[in-house]
Amino acid sequence: MNISHCPSCGSEKIKKLRGPVSHEFEGKVYTARGITYHQCPDCGERVYDGEAVEKMQSASPAFHKAMSTR
Ligand SMILES: [Zn+2]
Repeated sequence: MNISHCPSCGSEKIKKLRGPVSHEFEGKVYTARGITYHQCPDCGERVYDGEAVEKMQSASPAFHKAMSTR
């Protein structure tokens, strides 16, 4: 994924970053490591690609529990 403009404010300063991301799910905070995402320094918007979302979901035990009951 390559983003050159912020989807919220249109800034060209949006940067690709990599690191741990805290994710809240059902009132609990989980941290997923090695997430690649884009963050806009102007408005603070964060953009996650599909792989990043999958990693954040897999870091959450509650998400696994929700999936296994189906
Ligand atoms: Zn922005």
